[in-house]
Amino acid sequence: MTDLPTCRRATWSDLDAWTGAIAAKVRAAGHTPEAIVGLSRGGWIPARLIADHLGVKRLLALQTAHWGVTATKDGHAALTEQLSGSVEGATVLVADDITDTGESLALAVEHVQSEGRPSRLETATCLHITHSKFLPTYFAEEVPADHWVWVVFPWTYWEDLRALATKALPDGKDAAGVTQLLREKCRWTVPPVDVERALRQAAASTAR
Ligand code: AMP
Repeated sequence: MTDLPTCRRATWSDLDAWTGAIAAKVRAAGHTPEAIVGLSRGGWIPARLIADHLGVKRLLALQTAHWGVTATKDGHAALTEQLSGSVEGATVLVADDITDTGESLALAVEHVQSEGRPSRLETATCLHITHSKFLPTYFAEEVPADHWVWVVFPWTYWEDLRALATKALPDGKDAAGVTQLLREKCRWTVPPVDVERALRQAAASTAR
């Protein structure tokens, strides 16, 4: 039987609450940054929302890659895009969606610190899993390591669905079977029409 991860859907309301809670903590610390760096890809939208809450106008990007396919680690975290602008002497907040192994954020911080030379560097994530090797300065919600889940963010819905539906297909046999496996094994209730679409998209991309 294929190994399918337990999933948790994150909603836009969750995102609003999480980024609002982070902004409140940043404000309480008196550390509203001059620039926010969104760690691509998962940190982009949280970074933009935190910037909105805090009224920060400088929003930069940096990319690391770690988890290749949904819930499957792709070796070690690697830096794939350099910091998109200068932060020399500035106070900076690096934002991401979740710290799981913590490798991506640790790598990003190392890079921003050594290449960017900011005057202060802090980090924020919406969710923090307690086994992470990196502890963000601010996080909105802590997830105990023994309650690990794969979080399906609004911006990874189709990517995660394509990956997990494809993984479930050999056991599920067809879209209906896959829908049932996603519900039972992943605890993710997905409209059958979305499962069909995800399987079609996945098949089309492997045929390319
Ligand atoms: P990590 O380097 O393991 O801390 O995670 C790097 C990135 O992979 C995160 O910023 C997320 O975009 C993604 N990721 C890792 N673990 C999870 C998870 N449990 N649920 C959803 N996304 C995850």
